[in-house]
Amino acid sequence: MAYDRDNIFARILRGEIPCDKVYEDEFVLAFNDINPQAPTHVLVIPKGEYVSMDDFSEKASAEEIAALMRATGQIARDIGVAQAGYRLLANTGENGGQEVPHLHFHLFAGRSLGPMLAQ
Ligand code: 5GP
Repeated sequence: MAYDRDNIFARILRGEIPCDKVYEDEFVLAFNDINPQAPTHVLVIPKGEYVSMDDFSEKASAEEIAALMRATGQIARDIGVAQAGYRLLANTGENGGQEVPHLHFHLFAGRSLGPMLAQ
């Protein structure tokens, strides 16, 4: 799938739409989800134009990949959920239920998160 520069996260990255920022570095932005599904619901995104994990893993530089992985763990520590636990989720494509076509990890925490998938 070609990257759509008008997707909502691209617009947040350009500063056209505000976000409730949790973390930012050269390669990564994280912000609170506008419609939280758990007491803590943060979206962690690369700043580069990647649709999905398969796209990112194929095209991103080693520096970008390392930055996203390191930032995700750092955010979990910084917001204080690492010890009690959390869940990372990347919905991908049609079957994965992805709504926004810019790679993002959902970081859910703050309560017991139940089964991994809806039964
Ligand atoms: P997906 O279904 O693509 O995995 O998740 C997209 C997520 O983006 C949803 O959880 C949705 O609530 C969130 N979202 C959509 N638009 C906005 C927005 O403008 N701001 C923020 N902070 N989150 C958004």
